[in-house]
Amino acid sequence: MRNRSCVMRLLRYKNALLKLKALNFVRVFSDNLADAAGVTSAQVRKDFSIFGITGNRRGGYQVGDLIENLSHILGKDKDYEFIVVGVGNIGKALMRYDGFEKSGIKISAGFDIDPTKYDPGAAVAVYDLSKLNEYVVKNKIRFGIIAVPEFAAQQAFEVMINSGIKGVLNFTPARLKGPEDCIINNINLETELESIIYFVNVADKTGGK
Ligand code: ATP
Repeated sequence: MRNRSCVMRLLRYKNALLKLKALNFVRVFSDNLADAAGVTSAQVRKDFSIFGITGNRRGGYQVGDLIENLSHILGKDKDYEFIVVGVGNIGKALMRYDGFEKSGIKISAGFDIDPTKYDPGAAVAVYDLSKLNEYVVKNKIRFGIIAVPEFAAQQAFEVMINSGIKGVLNFTPARLKGPEDCIINNINLETELESIIYFVNVADKTGGK
């Protein structure tokens, strides 16, 4: 499955289902998932039918079965560990955030070049960047987050891929260059904020029409 928007929709369905399960829901309809994922119910049924997931005659699905199916399709029926490179404000915030756990994602360590950031005894340990290779190889880590300043991003990325990291979430505006088999997702917070400003300004000018 290579279609990014389809993957994003399946992830949204799964997160909505986990919430419903926590509320003790046993059955769910495509309408409920459509609302949660911001798509039409026809889209939900289409996405599910592509993967052979069928509801019962009245259009409902079992919450537990759906979560299991989606986890299997998304390859997320086990936990995954990430490391963070650059333990500044963004890196630290990500390392402190405990909301990833419910999705089976754990940030297991941080790496930095500034000795004042090293903290091997912390809940999420912070090590010297020079220890990254050893840590990643030993713990078979395949995922990483880049939260260094823009000028240092490519260098940090290379250290990561040379150690065996295969998927990276890049919080810097840098366009990273690397091997084709490495998956890079970019989050440019500044452009995201600027795009909100742009669309709000446009809406203001057109009086919301
Ligand atoms: P702070 O308040 O800690 O300075 P910040 O988010 O404003 O946070 P940045 O300048 O964006 O700081 O740097 C983020 C982190 O990346 C810092 O902890 C910095 O030491 C670290 N860093 C800088 N260059 C590298 C590098 N090449 N490899 C790893 N970490 C780096």
